[in-house]
Amino acid sequence: MRILKFGGSSVSTPERIKNVINILKDKYDQDPSFSVVFSAFGGVTDALISISKQAAAGNEQYHDALEHLIERHLAAAENLISGSNLSLVIDTLKEYFKELSDALHGVQLIRELSPRSLDLIMSFGERMSAYIISEAMKPAIPGSSFLDARELVKTDRNFGNARVNYETTFANIISYFSGKTFVPIITGFIGSTDDQVTTTLGRGGSDYTAAIFGAALKVQEIEIWTDVDGVMTADPRKVQQAFPIAAMSYKEALEMSHFGAKVIHPPTIAPALQRNIPIWIKNSFHPTAPGTFISKDKKDHGSLICGISSIDDIALLRLEGSGLVGVCGTAMRLFGALAKNGINVILITQGSSEHSICFGIAPIHAEQARTAIDEEFLLERKAGLIDNVIVEKGLSVIAVVGENMRMTPGLAGRLFGALGKNGVNVVAMVQGSSEYNISVVIKREDEEKGLNVIHEDFFLSHITTLHIFLVGTGLIGSTLLSQMEKQLPILRKEHSLDIRIVGLANSQKMYFEPHGLKVTDHKELLRNSSEKMDIASYIKKMKSLNLMNSIFVDCTSSEEIAENYSSILSSSISIVTPNKKANSGSYSRYKKLKELSELKGIKFYYQTNVGGGLPIISTIIDLRRSGDKIVKIEAILSGTLSYLFNTFTAGTKFSEVLREAQKKGYTEPDPREDLNGKDVLRKLLILVRESGFPMEIEDITIEPIVPEECFAGKGVDEFYHKLKDYDSMLEQKRSQAAKEGKVLRFIATFKQGKASVALQAVNASHPFYHLSGSDNIIALNTERYRDTPLVIKGQGAGAEVTAGEVFADIIRFASH
Ligand code: ADP
Ligand code: ASP
Ligand code: MG
Repeated sequence: MRILKFGGSSVSTPERIKNVINILKDKYDQDPSFSVVFSAFGGVTDALISISKQAAAGNEQYHDALEHLIERHLAAAENLISGSNLSLVIDTLKEYFKELSDALHGVQLIRELSPRSLDLIMSFGERMSAYIISEAMKPAIPGSSFLDARELVKTDRNFGNARVNYETTFANIISYFSGKTFVPIITGFIGSTDDQVTTTLGRGGSDYTAAIFGAALKVQEIEIWTDVDGVMTADPRKVQQAFPIAAMSYKEALEMSHFGAKVIHPPTIAPALQRNIPIWIKNSFHPTAPGTFISKDKKDHGSLICGISSIDDIALLRLEGSGLVGVCGTAMRLFGALAKNGINVILITQGSSEHSICFGIAPIHAEQARTAIDEEFLLERKAGLIDNVIVEKGLSVIAVVGENMRMTPGLAGRLFGALGKNGVNVVAMVQGSSEYNISVVIKREDEEKGLNVIHEDFFLSHITTLHIFLVGTGLIGSTLLSQMEKQLPILRKEHSLDIRIVGLANSQKMYFEPHGLKVTDHKELLRNSSEKMDIASYIKKMKSLNLMNSIFVDCTSSEEIAENYSSILSSSISIVTPNKKANSGSYSRYKKLKELSELKGIKFYYQTNVGGGLPIISTIIDLRRSGDKIVKIEAILSGTLSYLFNTFTAGTKFSEVLREAQKKGYTEPDPREDLNGKDVLRKLLILVRESGFPMEIEDITIEPIVPEECFAGKGVDEFYHKLKDYDSMLEQKRSQAAKEGKVLRFIATFKQGKASVALQAVNASHPFYHLSGSDNIIALNTERYRDTPLVIKGQGAGAEVTAGEVFADIIRFASH
């Protein structure tokens, strides 16, 4: 004999009910000895509660909602049942409707909804659904017959959450089933008291009904059919990557369900466990999926933990004071006061100093609990021995569950490490001595992120998901996007790195897609977006999405955006950027950003600030980390200037070389920005700071290539005009250098604590002599590279190499 149960989601429409009947027909053909428990049609219990509340409030609109509910059941009957039986079924349903309307009318008249009345009203959901389905099943399974569980399931008078009297109930069930050959179709969720008053077993209680019948009849198996492929590693609505758990123990199922995994109603486990009856969780929408098998045996999950679940909303209460230390009976009085008020305690922590006791309860009970405790400890409070209770709301609990966690060192560390890296603060934590469950209390807004972070760490350690918020779709930004377009599928497939672009903005518009946008569509998405770009709203949105492993990628050169970095890092969002503004502004801001990222363990990567794609900054960081000291820096840090002086040879004029370079797109749109040397100044400043020397931009001396007055004019044309006047001066410098066997180079230098940028002539023995194209080069003398410098040389500009290195910084995030 087997017991099956189908939940509301499996019977929410006539189509779904037909699907269930097909599943049952197959079972019947194989072995007809089973019985089926049904919930109310999906959403009906919620609707009945809401209608009851409307009636109690005297809101006449309850009639419309009731009419809608009646229509839904009539339509289901008409769709599922045919022939002469239909009118009989409709007549019976009308009796139900009349009884239900009368009950609601009573509630409306006395303007009061007692738990007892609500139980009666809710019972119609299961009674009507099981009745209709039992009749609809008759052609396929002739022996099916409706059973109102109130006849057999006997409970106490705890309306809304009644406790079952197992002895009487089991005896009733055994005697009802003895010798019967038909297939009972049973109402879930409901029971009755000894004097036949209707009760319910708690929301989601149809699972429990199935377990009670299963245990009474000592069935081989209990099958709970729902709308997911089994108990999943986490709530699939909150963790997209959750997957079904093949098998788990009763203890694990109990912990998961107690901590919010709605897929099993917690009391369901007890009767099955007592009689050692396995439970299957199966998907009625996907019957061929294996499902989850729950039994007494400890299982190997291939991971340290079995699953993660959470309770969305709890309040934490704290009782503190010297009067708690070493005093026996305080906990008893505290929890006694709560019990007297019927307040359920979800978790408890007490430090060994005994100075405070902290516990979590449902927020609706918080004020009642506060009053009860304040009253209980009135004398101690007056004597100043105990403080008033502190109540903290807006919290969630996440529990990691699994029998294999027992005696496994390092598990809590891993859990806290994963949360900490993503800036999820742990308010309290509890580990029962059973070690099947470690629970952490966190802010409610961090719940989803916390679940995903833990899920990825424990179950998908081979997969990393990154969430990218990109601003700036200019040359670098758009090149990065096209590189990603090609590379992301490969990273996903071959390197288990799932990079999702969830936010995108140019100077006009922004667009968000929390599950990751299609990179191929990025231009169109932005073009069609109705959201205007505004950096404050962009950051607000990024924070409110609160996704794990979030990275802000700034491909602009905007100072306004750089001003927001500290707020971004403070929200535990990492930054990857080629934008130099933040690091070359005031030293105090540079230092603050560094400290913030260090303190919070949040990444701030800006490899491309200097040298495009060349590994210059990372080399300095690595040298210093290993104990080396930077003594001297010499560098050519502008690809454009490098190109200009490589091309400025005998027979050319500097202004013409520049004009030619501009035509080829090698300069900024306004070539003055290259020639004034400010960009090189910023880069040198960053290198000096990275080398460990606090410095401001004013501390660097600059000898401009041409005098300042050259840049003073209005437009580019005027600039070229003025520049011509200096062609002869530059030619003189060049030919003088050439006579001495030297070439001109615009060099950034740092030595003996001083930094400068100037045009210099270098001879053939200098590492900067042989340069071609737009090469960047840096020569580093350190305590270890004392005589011969460490030289890094290569193409130092260009969108492809720079975007490529921004991409590499993003990927680096995943590997650290
Ligand atoms: P039914 O109507 O069949 O009783 P429920 O809605 O009560 O179904 O329970 C199934 C739902 O439980 C799933 O659709 C899923 O959204 C939710 N759920 C929460 N946590 C889990 C989990 N760990 N595994 C599977 N489902 C879960
Ligand atoms: N119909 C009830 C509820 O919605 C019982 C159940 O579905 O298990 O809570
Ligand atoms: Mg359920």
